[in-house]
Amino acid sequence: MVLATNLGFPRIGARRELKKATESYWKGEITEAELVKVGTDIRRTNWQIQKDAGLDMIPVNDFSFYDQVLDMSALLGVIPSRYNFNGEKVDLPTYFAMARGNDSVTAMEMTKWFDTNYHYIVPEFDTDTTFKISSDKIFDETSEAQALGVTVRPVLVGPVTYLTLGKAKDGSNPLDLLPKILPVYAEILARLKSMGVEWVQIDEPILVMDLSNEQKSAVQTSCDALAQNGVKICLTTYFCGLRDNESLTLSLPFDALHVDLKRAPEQLDSILKHFPKDKILSLGLVDGRNIWKANLRQALKIAQQASDKLGLANIWIAPSCSMIHCPNDLDFESRMDDQLKSWLAYAKQKLGEVHSLTLGLNSGEAAIESDLSLSDIVAKDRATSSRIHNDGVKQRMTSLEPTMFTRKSEFSHRRSAQHTALSLPSFPTTSIGSFPQTKEIRETRASFKKGTIDLAAYEQTMRQEIERVIRFQEDLDMDVLVHGEPERNDMVEYFGEQLQGYTFSQNGWVQSYGSRYVKPPIIFGDVSRPTPMTVEWSAYAQSLTTRPVKGMLTGPITMLFWSFVRDDQPRSETCKQIALAIRDEVRDLEAAGIKVIQIDEPAIREGLPLRRADWNDYLDWAVDSFRLSASCVADETQIHTHMCYSEFNDIIDSIADLDADAISIETSRSQMELLEAFVNFDYPNEIGPGVYDIHSPRIPTQEEMVILLEKAATVLDPSQIWVNPDCGLKTRGWAEVEPALRHMVDAAKTLRKRVG
Ligand code: GLN
Ligand code: ZN
Repeated sequence: MVLATNLGFPRIGARRELKKATESYWKGEITEAELVKVGTDIRRTNWQIQKDAGLDMIPVNDFSFYDQVLDMSALLGVIPSRYNFNGEKVDLPTYFAMARGNDSVTAMEMTKWFDTNYHYIVPEFDTDTTFKISSDKIFDETSEAQALGVTVRPVLVGPVTYLTLGKAKDGSNPLDLLPKILPVYAEILARLKSMGVEWVQIDEPILVMDLSNEQKSAVQTSCDALAQNGVKICLTTYFCGLRDNESLTLSLPFDALHVDLKRAPEQLDSILKHFPKDKILSLGLVDGRNIWKANLRQALKIAQQASDKLGLANIWIAPSCSMIHCPNDLDFESRMDDQLKSWLAYAKQKLGEVHSLTLGLNSGEAAIESDLSLSDIVAKDRATSSRIHNDGVKQRMTSLEPTMFTRKSEFSHRRSAQHTALSLPSFPTTSIGSFPQTKEIRETRASFKKGTIDLAAYEQTMRQEIERVIRFQEDLDMDVLVHGEPERNDMVEYFGEQLQGYTFSQNGWVQSYGSRYVKPPIIFGDVSRPTPMTVEWSAYAQSLTTRPVKGMLTGPITMLFWSFVRDDQPRSETCKQIALAIRDEVRDLEAAGIKVIQIDEPAIREGLPLRRADWNDYLDWAVDSFRLSASCVADETQIHTHMCYSEFNDIIDSIADLDADAISIETSRSQMELLEAFVNFDYPNEIGPGVYDIHSPRIPTQEEMVILLEKAATVLDPSQIWVNPDCGLKTRGWAEVEPALRHMVDAAKTLRKRVG
């Protein structure tokens, strides 16, 4: 028989219970026991939901108080010495200190999990790292589930993925630790076996990446060792196809192998051809990372193809990956309209799809006929709905001309036109867009949204704030001003709310890191811009001053990556539609007298595909989209872009290809190290290496910013350099921002004197 399985369920609670509880615990408002109880309740609810959905095997240890990679570090006893770990069991205060730091100790580093927007805590290794079971979490949760009658499948991040995701501070190679880590995995598996566990899920998503020979042999060694412990191993891969790692993977001693057939449906044929007899193939057919209902008829066909080849006993049905990347339960969307809702499935609903497909295989299509016909109706509705398909947009997309992707003149020509138009000093100063978002601003926005204040009152407060920010920047003697973005809650949401084809859920929360959850907008249809989105604010700001005010937009790539994207057309297509909408805004800003326009693209680097072979294709359409959004302006109009948290080495030629007149990047924390890529590449346009670390409350001195700028001026042409902070200032307070920016302007003036 085919089994219905799952790789992981959202752990934040249907009403974000985990966030409330952890944050209260951190504030000292609830006790550890109370926090632990919330965790227990969430797990029990999740298991029950999965049992009720008819799942045959249910993941355990997918719950976490912060992050599953941090859980692995706790389990394996990988605790950096600064946490003064007693060597016994990692307690919650130590665990949270590792995650978040505290008054006396810094947090561990955090970075993105593969190509998702989920962040994990980076394990810290050195040559002397030893491993020892230091947490009972996985065992406790396993017995907890067993006591509730759950058929458990405990989940572990696999040894090679775990080591590869970590960093060795002393420059050693984490994979050298494999011989030391494997015995501890063996001990864990043996203990699970002694508890009556039959199957363990070993997540090795590293198998979808480009692997070195060393990594390949590490995977072999690791799987050989894991296979020796009497439990059956379900080896899971996701986020991409196995491709050139297929034959290695299929030769590994697993009992079941999970593959992602949403991201990489094309891999199935080859896998079926070579799949070892009598092993189980777990088909990831339901999208674990998106919110669209599955096309059940299509999915069933694929599943049948697999079962025809391997036999019903050797097939499992599953989501494509852990569903922690997907919101919890669509039933909580009380305000969403029925049609849109009928197109969506959150994690709980996806379990129903997994079950339905399983039943369809086991009992034949007729058994799920009503599910299939419902799914057909949705597919047809989405294919034809006028809410999704906008002829005007489609028409525009077919009439894109090459000239729409290039500025009228080359940079050198534009540059002199802009210098004449803007008459800026050398080392011109600017900021990245937002200014501190005070309580008053947030409250005004919230009251306006709730309807407790009217438009006039709202606009008045925003205008006052804009005026204050303009006067403040004039007083500081900054060169290119911004309006401060008080009207924006979030750089994607603000635009998404005004674009057609976008919508917002009330409860579509997904964990980004720890207790921080995001509610990505949903791009469901063709995107267009009915009316100007920012022009009024920018024009108002410009009316207050003779200095240039920079218009502020979020770019198409970032708008795409920070949303749930429709799955019925290529992402490149959707990105270009967004680009056209931004282009309309750019043109209107220019017409309203805005001479400098910044198009933020902080997400461009994170959008890079997992496999190098796919980079060019992505970079081509990403660069095209940016250029489409920005190229409609006159030579005199200066286009800026901004990126933060970015390492550019791999993609510097594409960054240059964006052909923005100026780019601002985050460099202050790395002491200008990140600038290296630009220097080596001989970046031709203007560049603002951040000199003020806005992630810290510390106020940088003029002297230290002068040092950073001098460093930049020795490697770049001084006439290329802009002076700006690392990123927007919205999370900072005025008390810090005021002196910090004053020092920054002074630093620029010092440079003008010293370097000219
Ligand atoms: N313009 C935005 C701001 O200043 C940019 C934010 C970002 O790069 N993440 O807030
Ligand atoms: Zn930024």
